[in-house]
Amino acid sequence: MIESVELYEGLKKEKTELLAKLEQLRVIGQPSAERKEGSPFGKREEGADEALELEKRLALGIRLEESLNEVEHALQKYEAGTYGLCDSCGKAIEQARLEAIPQASLCLNCKASQAKDAKGAR
Ligand SMILES: [Zn+2]
Repeated sequence: MIESVELYEGLKKEKTELLAKLEQLRVIGQPSAERKEGSPFGKREEGADEALELEKRLALGIRLEESLNEVEHALQKYEAGTYGLCDSCGKAIEQARLEAIPQASLCLNCKASQAKDAKGAR
């Protein structure tokens, strides 16, 4: 059985890594001053490539932020003493599930029914 403090340390590390990745993404995402000065009709093809790259970075950024939110939520739960308990039914989340996904906030049952609900709503 894994100690929850180990998961907590892992989550803190994960958070640091996610923040670093997001920061990196922001730095790359800054439009360079050089390009602003150039003619808007000059490098059209390069601009298209850039738009695609920007889109990729945005998608990656959204994923990273979602992960960060989950990790932060789990850290808050740990501090509140409710780490490892399901957000929905309040029962203990399966140990194996926490080992696989330390930021999990729902037990398998609730996660499964949530997925079902999401499908039904469509
Ligand atoms: Zn549950």
